[in-house]
Amino acid sequence: MATKAEKEHYGKVANLGCSLCRYLGYGESPSHLHHIRRAGKRSNAPVIPLCPEHHTGNKGVHGMGRKAFEREYGVTEEELLEYTLQLI
Ligand SMILES: [Zn+2]
Ligand SMILES: [Zn+2]
Repeated sequence: MATKAEKEHYGKVANLGCSLCRYLGYGESPSHLHHIRRAGKRSNAPVIPLCPEHHTGNKGVHGMGRKAFEREYGVTEEELLEYTLQLI
């Protein structure tokens, strides 16, 4: 279960808009939360905001797979996470 603090954090992250669109200079796009997979529990996974296209679309991290996604855009999930957290 997410704690109140986690929910607030997730809300702030989602409100930033897609981190990849922002990174690419497309401006703000409404976003989903994407959990970054790391070793350990999924419930503790950090989240980044991604728009539907960059999340589950053909050009998204789930559509292409993480490796292809990172190659395509020249940025890693971890870099997008850092970039996101700087904005909060
Ligand atoms: Zn996007
Ligand atoms: Zn996801």
